[in-house]
Amino acid sequence: MTYFHYRQSTLYCEKVNIERLTRAVPTPFYLYSYNSLASSYKTISTAFAPVDPLIAYSMKANFSWAICQSLAGLGCGFDIVSGGELRQALRTGVRPEKILFAGVGKLPEEIEHAIKADILMFNIESLPEAYVIEEVAKILGKKTRAAIRVNPDIDPDTHKYITTGTKEDKFGVNFAAAFDAIREICALPHIEFMGLHSHIGSQLLNPDSYIKTLKRLQVMIRKLDQSGIRIRTLNLGGGFGIAYEEDQKAFDIAQLARKIVATVQSLGCQLILEPGRFLVGPAGVLITKVLYVKRRANKTFVIVDAGMNDLIRPSLYAAHHRIIPVKDHQRQIEKNVDIVGPVCESADFLGLSRRFPAVEPGEYLAVCDAGAYGYVMASNYNFRSRCAEVMVRNSRHYVIRDREQLREISKHEKLPSFLKKGQKKR
Ligand code: PLP
Repeated sequence: MTYFHYRQSTLYCEKVNIERLTRAVPTPFYLYSYNSLASSYKTISTAFAPVDPLIAYSMKANFSWAICQSLAGLGCGFDIVSGGELRQALRTGVRPEKILFAGVGKLPEEIEHAIKADILMFNIESLPEAYVIEEVAKILGKKTRAAIRVNPDIDPDTHKYITTGTKEDKFGVNFAAAFDAIREICALPHIEFMGLHSHIGSQLLNPDSYIKTLKRLQVMIRKLDQSGIRIRTLNLGGGFGIAYEEDQKAFDIAQLARKIVATVQSLGCQLILEPGRFLVGPAGVLITKVLYVKRRANKTFVIVDAGMNDLIRPSLYAAHHRIIPVKDHQRQIEKNVDIVGPVCESADFLGLSRRFPAVEPGEYLAVCDAGAYGYVMASNYNFRSRCAEVMVRNSRHYVIRDREQLREISKHEKLPSFLKKGQKKR
């Protein structure tokens, strides 16, 4: 956690004292380090420099404008999955030829916007989708570009909710059916076929699954070549894991690059990568305040002001996030501590059964590695407003999103006329 570090027992984000920051920004809030984003981007771009890949940031990990703008400024393109993400990508001023559109349920109107914006390509997930893209492009009188997402049937050993490349998963076209599907797509007059796409899962810590995937795709590329279909782009997706746990090591990008660069060069196609979590996960923490501490015989509950509506990963995936106090002074370590939120669900926890310093109400905690799939999955459950987001660069902080106001949650609500009559005070 080099961009989040202790200085005289106080947690800093870069050169900003987080305790002092809590006086300016009410908790809970997400806090991001700009220089962490820049450093993670550099790790990938340096490792793969020999093949000059298109690094298309997978915006689903964190769609905040300042995050996207930062990554576009560093050189990223975008992997998007909705019309909203297309809008957000274009808002950064990124060149449309750096945008890829994936997702199993693209709507005709989203496809239309993307074709009009002249994005680099669609990642087609099924043949019926290819026909919808063809139809929309024909109506617009344009030719668009597309790759096919091949499901290589590789189980990458990660949580089953974030495995995406086995034949049980809804994503992509099965490996066995892909060859015929590609031939069919190549015959469509308004689609220019670009290449292969795969994304086998998320939070992968071992390069072996990528190497296996590449070997499977190589077989396909050779077969296509023999039938006169040239592959121009090879997209290996995202999925590079980060070190959520103390004893974990983040995915070794340099090692993967060393193992596959020569193969990619020999294939002569443009490499595309779609990292999400690796770029933004370690760059963000969730800052929360201890509200109450309940000490029972064999268990302590630390109740904080951030809940599953702010960060759902622990409840949804049993995901582990390190949690550390903002003030790290010497104190007793308690056993069997649950750090829980205020939401009325037993599943509302940020950490379970931890060995944890004996904290007291009013103290602040940082939930680490929360920059990916954090704010983007926040909800209004329990009528709680979504929290603020703050970015730090060197010694300055910038509020990049204000906390949602309660009236904003109600903004789109309407009463049916038959209830308006009875709205008198009771
Ligand atoms: N590309 C595709 C097609 C995805 O579905 C995802 C995540 O689900 C990603 C990239 C980004 O994955 P990660 O955040 O693990 O890098």
